[in-house]
Amino acid sequence: MAEEVSAAQIEALNRRLLNRQAELKALDREAASWRDTVELDQQSVGRLSRMDAMQQQEMAQADARRRTSDIARIEMALNRITQGEYGWCAACGEPIAYKRLEIDPAAALCIGCAA
Ligand SMILES: [Zn+2]
Repeated sequence: MAEEVSAAQIEALNRRLLNRQAELKALDREAASWRDTVELDQQSVGRLSRMDAMQQQEMAQADARRRTSDIARIEMALNRITQGEYGWCAACGEPIAYKRLEIDPAAALCIGCAA
């Protein structure tokens, strides 16, 4: 069984979650302004480069979806911290190992339940 995470460890992970959240939101804003630029460009480009642009757009959309789900996971983790539930597995209620949280501070399940 994993050891319960300490308040100092939660504090450190909390900071990392907030930093990552800010980073993802900044990337989202950047992507949004880039998207507007591409849409303007598309009016003046030929068919081939339009296909390139469409492919790029699909990739950008996949990135955006990943960011949105990461932001949601981080928000849930921050809520768990606020509610004092952070570091406990959402499925079995056992402590989540600090090593696991270090790798993914937004993890909601212990290694046993995530497997
Ligand atoms: Zn578990």
